[in-house]
Amino acid sequence: MSKTSSPFPVSTVKVSPRGATRLKDGHVWVYRSDIVSANGVAPGSLVTLADHRGQILGTALYSSSSQIAIRLISREPVADLPALLRQRIAEAIAYREPLIRDTNAYRVIFSEADFLPGLIVDRYNDILSMQILTQAMDAEIVRATLISELTERLHPASIVERVDPRVRQLEDLPPRASGLVQGEKSSTVFAMNGVQFHFDALEGQKTGAFLDQRENYAAAAQYAHGEALDVFCYHGGFALHLAPRCSHVTGVDSSRLALEVTDQNAALNRAQLHDKDKEIEWIEANAFDLLKDYASSGQRYDTIVLDPPAFAKSKRDLDAALRGYKELNLRALKMLRPGGILVTCSCSYHVSQLDFLEMLADAARDAHRVVRLVEVRGQSKDHPVLLNIPETAYLKCVVANVSQ
Ligand code: SAH
Repeated sequence: MSKTSSPFPVSTVKVSPRGATRLKDGHVWVYRSDIVSANGVAPGSLVTLADHRGQILGTALYSSSSQIAIRLISREPVADLPALLRQRIAEAIAYREPLIRDTNAYRVIFSEADFLPGLIVDRYNDILSMQILTQAMDAEIVRATLISELTERLHPASIVERVDPRVRQLEDLPPRASGLVQGEKSSTVFAMNGVQFHFDALEGQKTGAFLDQRENYAAAAQYAHGEALDVFCYHGGFALHLAPRCSHVTGVDSSRLALEVTDQNAALNRAQLHDKDKEIEWIEANAFDLLKDYASSGQRYDTIVLDPPAFAKSKRDLDAALRGYKELNLRALKMLRPGGILVTCSCSYHVSQLDFLEMLADAARDAHRVVRLVEVRGQSKDHPVLLNIPETAYLKCVVANVSQ
């Protein structure tokens, strides 16, 4: 790939009127079906974009295999891609400076939302975790630029690349292993909101932790009380934030591997709990089965967190996803004592905030509970939402009070 791609735009791609309108409306993607001509354009190359009449629309990164054929990188001509990438990295870092508080773990670069389509970089204390999602970002000259600029600006002990094999397949890129691309350190401890977590760059899901929930952890902790249940707890993000406020915390996840890390994280934070013997326990179980059993056996809680994996991976899954969310939320609502707090999340982009609130309203009606919305939240600010790129907004987190 790197042999054929050029850092300078050598080809022009023409897009249909529909594609051009989409770009003029503020989006940055053009689907393959809206490409009029891209003859001989090298995979992953930087291209000049024009409408069907030849009017220049900007400069873009081209993918020869993805349905998203074009990702706009600038509305201006670009003579030097490495220089533009360096500038974009500097801007992403500067954007976050006033927004990031009480953490040394956050998303440094969020792809389209930082005008660096196809690139995700997360910081975990002194380790950077990088994900490359497109042909263009995979080019050697681009990789070298990213690594040198990130190193110069953030001075990480190491940079690790996390590979999603399915994405590489879709982008028609050769297989590649996850691993260190710079430095030797692969594990560290990071802290958010005063809570500490182990990070192993070569294990875990996504790029290691769910940084998009960081501000929601702090919000949930503010309202949590009594006996708490954190369903789909992964490494204990919510559970460990709730622990200082609650008398007892139970985390549930189906992954034994995740729960092993959760246990280590609990040990890391025990010294900070006032009550050193406070009970925090982890249960390896299917959440659907466990909630069904607990709800029917009369188990009660004061705080319940629901943070399942994305149920709707595509638009087609929407109805099934909403049924799944409703089942979980219905059972949780039934189990909450009066005055209880429900923290309920969805990270499915295809489930809109409105869909999610309607689902919750249905569940409240069926559970015969009165539910007040305390906060309707989204993803942490280091995962910016671009108003004209709806795909950048995906996380919903509702904090609700269940009064009767
Ligand atoms: N709340 C977590 C993130 C949860 S991610 C945090 O803030 O860090 C979703 C989690 O759900 C994963 O850890 C996955 O192992 C778990 N999971 C997926 N399906 C499950 C099921 N049916 N029952 C229980 N856990 C499940």
